[in-house]
Amino acid sequence: MAKVLCVLYDDPTGGYPTTYARDDLPRIDHYPGGQTTPTPEAVDFTPGHLLGSVSGELGLRSFLEKAGHTLVVTSDKDGDGSTFDRELRDADIVISQPFWPAYLTAERIAAAKNLKLAVTAGIGSDHVDLDAAIAHGVTVAEVTYCNSISVAEHVVMMTLSLVRNYLPSHQVVLDGGWNIADCVARSYDLEGMHVGTVAAGRIGLAVLRRLAPFDVKLHYTDRHRLPESVEEELGLTWHESAVEMAPHCDVVTINAPLHPETEGLFGDDLLGKMKRGAYLINTARALIVDPDAVDRALRSGQLAGYAGDVWYPQPAPADHPWRTMPHHGMTPHISGSSLSAQARYAAGTREILESWFTGRPIRDEYLIVDGGALAGTGAHSYSVNT
Ligand code: NDP
Repeated sequence: MAKVLCVLYDDPTGGYPTTYARDDLPRIDHYPGGQTTPTPEAVDFTPGHLLGSVSGELGLRSFLEKAGHTLVVTSDKDGDGSTFDRELRDADIVISQPFWPAYLTAERIAAAKNLKLAVTAGIGSDHVDLDAAIAHGVTVAEVTYCNSISVAEHVVMMTLSLVRNYLPSHQVVLDGGWNIADCVARSYDLEGMHVGTVAAGRIGLAVLRRLAPFDVKLHYTDRHRLPESVEEELGLTWHESAVEMAPHCDVVTINAPLHPETEGLFGDDLLGKMKRGAYLINTARALIVDPDAVDRALRSGQLAGYAGDVWYPQPAPADHPWRTMPHHGMTPHISGSSLSAQARYAAGTREILESWFTGRPIRDEYLIVDGGALAGTGAHSYSVNT
């Protein structure tokens, strides 16, 4: 029987919800491109309820306990002596969400003698040291596509928010003011701007598709080029690299995984090559940019705005410079954890566990590391140092 250690974010400050803003979720069976949404044999939760916080337990408790497994759920994940560290020693399976990542460092993996499976309830397994997972034979899986559209919607929202100066204008209303000039002195139309994505995978391509009707000029860079038909349909300009693309763009959105190739990509150098007054949207991973260089670029006016929902570390400390830098539209890491997304990644986590316990192969598209090597989606989209 397995011990499953699940690290989730805290419940709402006012307590676990008893009612919700809406009664149901739209039914979605397939993602763009045809991949099916998760297909567990059953779920023990109500889609649309809060599943990603400690009391939501990803809806896993009765499924696991009925099968004789042990489930430990905690939000206490950082610092010496955390519940996560304590419980990890004899855990067989760790589940964690990128929004509240349980950092599975090489040291932790080495100390977790029973660990065989690390599941990311979401997308982005960079909180797991993949080299160490490979070395210790730990399988890593994530729920590919579960929240890609959720994030793409967030990117579109943030792009418009920055370009049109929405957040400061809303603040004027909250403050009881009406100075139109205060609002519009930094407000532009997106129409006609050059918008580029670093990576055109599931999220990047969904962003391109959603922005196309705004009559913008679309650019992208990716390790693999999109089919010619898609480039033509969306009027895309492809660039060899982010360094080559960024200077052409008014808005750049980052949609690549964090791995050795992308870490620190947007530092002083690349930010300095962008058009003065460009906007940068990063919902991918914080360490793809240099946090201090972003702060400097906003203060100097090199960037007109920065938005995203990914920080390092998470949770971000109260004195993180991104909380107070000018012209930002940051949120906590929420874009991929809407109630709609939670229903999908909770079901996907259940599907992965059902496969694991019954010895069925985990869907190839969910695999990042397996059998001591990058596998499935991991082999396509990630890189490691070894
Ligand atoms: P995909 O795997 O579908 O797409 C990632 C794309 O990045 C692939 O097309 C890949 O290229 C490309 N890529 C990898 N390395 C590079 C590089 N060095 N330069 C250019 N392109 C590169 O993933 P998703 O679109 O679903 O997600 C992307 C990332 O977004 C995740 O890894 C995660 O970090 C983040 N994310 C954030 C969320 C949030 O809540 N904020 C939620 C979900 C994801 P190719 O495959 O062609 O080699």
